[in-house]
Amino acid sequence: HLDRIAAVDPRIHAFLHVDEHAALASAGLVDERIAAGETPGSPLAGVPLALKDVFTTADMPTTCGSKILEGWRPPYDATVTARLRAAGITILGKTNMDEFAMGSSTEHSAYGPTHNPWDLDRVPGGSGGGSAASLAAFEAPLAIGTDTGGSIRQPAAFTGTVGVKPTYGGVSRYGLVACASSLDQAGPCARTVLDAALLHEVIAGHDPMDSTSIDEPVPDVVAAARRGAAEDLTGLKVGVVRELGGEGYAPGVRTAYDAALRRLEKLGAELVEVSCPHFEYGMAAYYLILPSEVSSNLARFDAMRYGLRADSGASAEEVMANTREAGFGPEVKRRIILGTYALSSGYYDAYYGQAQKVRTLIGRDFANAFAQADVLVSPATPTLPFPIGDKVDDPLAMYLNDLATIPTNLAGTAGMSVPAGLSEGLPVGLQIMAPALGEAVMYRVGAAFE
Ligand code: GLN
Repeated sequence: HLDRIAAVDPRIHAFLHVDEHAALASAGLVDERIAAGETPGSPLAGVPLALKDVFTTADMPTTCGSKILEGWRPPYDATVTARLRAAGITILGKTNMDEFAMGSSTEHSAYGPTHNPWDLDRVPGGSGGGSAASLAAFEAPLAIGTDTGGSIRQPAAFTGTVGVKPTYGGVSRYGLVACASSLDQAGPCARTVLDAALLHEVIAGHDPMDSTSIDEPVPDVVAAARRGAAEDLTGLKVGVVRELGGEGYAPGVRTAYDAALRRLEKLGAELVEVSCPHFEYGMAAYYLILPSEVSSNLARFDAMRYGLRADSGASAEEVMANTREAGFGPEVKRRIILGTYALSSGYYDAYYGQAQKVRTLIGRDFANAFAQADVLVSPATPTLPFPIGDKVDDPLAMYLNDLATIPTNLAGTAGMSVPAGLSEGLPVGLQIMAPALGEAVMYRVGAAFE
């Protein structure tokens, strides 16, 4: 994999940092344990992995795709990082991302865009475009992403790979640099559903260091995924969300999605149409809640505690302002301004308060739909992977990428994207959604479909 990275990453730019020395040392340790007759911690021991550059790593820089953290070396490992290491998984390096996970194309990285391995002139999606591209370019067989509004599932769809957003609280956020804390969730990325399940098992589970971590057993996703192609879906009800997949979805996406629905039927699933009438307000609510949390979370980058510090300024306040001006990119600044506005006194009820009510209604839509079906499906994205440069100056066009994925984050439920075939030579993703802690049935459908 290190050779493959050296050969193709100059063109793909999936990685921000590769630590060859540490990777070989970590793989060597697993070999030693096996030679000494020990059983390695997990079936994935020794398997290389690409880690999104939003998780703290004590032995590698963590930049979150931002200039403001350039050169910062965290003093500790995130829980996800620590669990990967304990399982003997070899961390190859850190992957490119939109700055602080805000974006849908990886073009908002301060370190330049990642290219889609299927067509180097197109985006791999975002914010976790580096992780997804590393899988599609065979630079790594496993990767970790984070999904706040779609940043695991949309890049998976754009690169023909598998990406899972677990139930909120299913995977620890300790050491995951926060974008929007009530929406962020780490999850596995892989080329097959079973690989994703094996990785899910490694990273999931209760963590006392994260106050929102769920203290419940991890759903048995590996057993569900192992049944794979042998599985038939007779008796399973698949809810087709009426509000996702129609207007606003590209014909190429629609064709692959229709074929996916027919395939689910062939596998024995019963398709039922379900309605989630509040999903259409999801985007608007998300773009109030997320910037509000961002404006608060990113206040910690004050030029005193981390990374960059501007060397000009007559007072602490000026140094802070100059540092934030130089260190944050335009999308991050846009969201900090939006969030600060939405939270300001006099506007709080009209914007943030209203958005929280929509969030509740979306949760109810899911509850109603899951009373009628075991899982829900939709296209993972409204469009095919688009050319680099096409949407980078048009925030609204960029935001629309997450139309189908955002409701799941708002509700805290689970979702995944699995490859649903090609359209115009480009990959399309099928989104499968499950209730909170309903990952097993989601993996079962994903693996049977694969
Ligand atoms: N693209 C969405 C956004 O820009 C989602 C980001 C994410 O999931 N981290 O907010």
